[in-house]
Amino acid sequence: MSSTKPFLKHATWIEVDLGAIESNVRYFVENTSARVMAVVKANAYGHGSEQAAKAAIRGGATWLGVARSEEALELRRSGFQVPILIMGLTPYRQMPEVIAAKVSMTVWDLEQVRVAAAAATNTVEHARLHLKVDTGMSRLGAQPEEAVEMGQRIVQYPTVALEGVFTHFARADERNRAPTEAQEQKLQQVLAGLDAAGLRPSLVHAANSAAALMHPSAHFDMVRVGISIYGLHPSPDCLLPASFWPALSWKAQLSQVKILPAGRGLSYGHSYVTRAREMIGTVPVGYADGFRRLEGNVVLVGGRRVPVVGRVCMDQILVQLDEVPTARAGDEVVIIGEQGKERITAEEVATRWGTINYEVTSGLAARVPRLFT
Ligand SMILES: *Cc1c(COP(=O)(O)O)cnc(C)c1O
Repeated sequence: MSSTKPFLKHATWIEVDLGAIESNVRYFVENTSARVMAVVKANAYGHGSEQAAKAAIRGGATWLGVARSEEALELRRSGFQVPILIMGLTPYRQMPEVIAAKVSMTVWDLEQVRVAAAAATNTVEHARLHLKVDTGMSRLGAQPEEAVEMGQRIVQYPTVALEGVFTHFARADERNRAPTEAQEQKLQQVLAGLDAAGLRPSLVHAANSAAALMHPSAHFDMVRVGISIYGLHPSPDCLLPASFWPALSWKAQLSQVKILPAGRGLSYGHSYVTRAREMIGTVPVGYADGFRRLEGNVVLVGGRRVPVVGRVCMDQILVQLDEVPTARAGDEVVIIGEQGKERITAEEVATRWGTINYEVTSGLAARVPRLFT
């Protein structure tokens, strides 16, 4: 067995290609007439929100979208001055800080509006509100038949500005277009009512990545794109155009390589027992990094697919290296990404884990360092 290669700075790390995010965002800027909101919630789907947001703005995004008030305030603290929308709940106690930071909030009932208006009373800033309409996702939003009256009530508060009206699609990533068209139709009816009352705000938005790609009539004034700007497919039925490419790779280096005799149990519970003399590598990646504790995992070593054997631990896994007899400690391991001619996509990992690419990358732990290229 050959000696250890020099170790790199990190045991495991995530590489984020910021040029990919910039280019993927630019596709929407160039191919839609709408503004582009880059959705950077959940640490930019695991990619690192600050750097991802900068890349998205370089690509032409003019808004940032997040789920929570903490995410918005952190972006403001990092110096971002572009408009930011909190798309989920803003707890009442956060409203004064959110308003002072010029962050826009989503509302769906009149109590929220009343509290926001009161919170803005002793400040120079208006409470910037986007009225969410539930056209069929059934998650957040005023019901369509309540929306116009809500709009009328909102504009009566002098400390509030109604900046936007929006909805969210439940099935835009499917081949069947009808459910999305029905939601779009409901939004159109609300907009007609707001128009008639002279209340239509300047920003109407509805489209997530899938709708931005497949439903141009749903672009309205702004598209809210998340998964696609990271180069990840919205779904198997909604694939990205060929010019998109994935931004994220997850790598590690082998911490130890050894040959074990036949009959040795591996890792907790000895669920795997060597059948012969086997070459076994240790990889400093575990379930606390977002790697799933399941059987059947595969990673790349030496440009080959190698199986993960034995139980996944909190911080480490074992791999069977008989296909890569030259492997030695310090060699690169790819969990997501390319190595030689082989590639493991987030979509492949998602299939193995019984989930979707969104959950794979957004589940990558904060402790894994992000390196930006
Ligand atoms: C997450 C989210 C998006 C982005 O969706 P993608 O499918 O990742 O493009 C858009 N709008 C809302 C309200 C969201 O919660």
